[in-house]
Amino acid sequence: MIPKQIEAYVVDDASKQTFRKAQIDVPQLQPLDVLMNIECCSVCYTDSFCPAGKAPGHEFIGKIVAVGSSVEKLKVGQRVGGGWQLGSCQNCDVCNDGKQHICPEKTNFINAPIGGFADYVVWDSRFLYDIPETMSSADAAPLLCAGITVYAPLANHNVQPGSRVGILGVGGLGHLGIKFAKAWGCRVVALSTSSNKEKEARAFGADEFVVTKDADQLKSLKPLDMIINTRYMNDINRRFAAANWFVIDQLR
Ligand SMILES: [Zn+2]
Ligand SMILES: [Zn+2]
Repeated sequence: MIPKQIEAYVVDDASKQTFRKAQIDVPQLQPLDVLMNIECCSVCYTDSFCPAGKAPGHEFIGKIVAVGSSVEKLKVGQRVGGGWQLGSCQNCDVCNDGKQHICPEKTNFINAPIGGFADYVVWDSRFLYDIPETMSSADAAPLLCAGITVYAPLANHNVQPGSRVGILGVGGLGHLGIKFAKAWGCRVVALSTSSNKEKEARAFGADEFVVTKDADQLKSLKPLDMIINTRYMNDINRRFAAANWFVIDQLR
């Protein structure tokens, strides 16, 4: 069913991160847009950067209810997911090389009329992905931003089964990073400032656990082939001024 209006949760006060319900007119579909009925949207830290009056949400899954006049690859009824990126120029060197995520003119969910905290979303069909039937919407949603963030380094940097991969930080991204690296066949080393993260890191598949505040543990850590840093960079700048050197020191 095509709605007349979309019900969304928009940011009310950005400093307090409060929301209010809002009714928004359905945006006009551009030729390559689709309108989708949202089933599920997970929460990412970047949502907190969304300004007042806009609906955040960029890990969303839903079924397509209408397509623009030039959409050929997706169809009504199909279940798809969207992530952080809304669009790119499709015309520069990096876009032509299939790396639209580093296009200088890329746009993201904050540029979208409505993010995924809504019952419907209008999105560029070129930045939506088919979701396999075997995967639930709730399982698929976090993969659209958090998942791709930690999966991409494994895929793009020739990580091999048996490689020693460090996952720095055992939060939401770290959990997924540990699981992906383990499934990739790597020897997974979880690195955390906090010893009480060990149990969950090992439950997600970490083979080794190192408390980065413990100089002796760091000293005995065998070199790593790759470190995936899942910590928020401003946090690192503030609390770990030497974090980059730490990362470089631990690599083979
Ligand atoms: Zn995100
Ligand atoms: Zn481009």
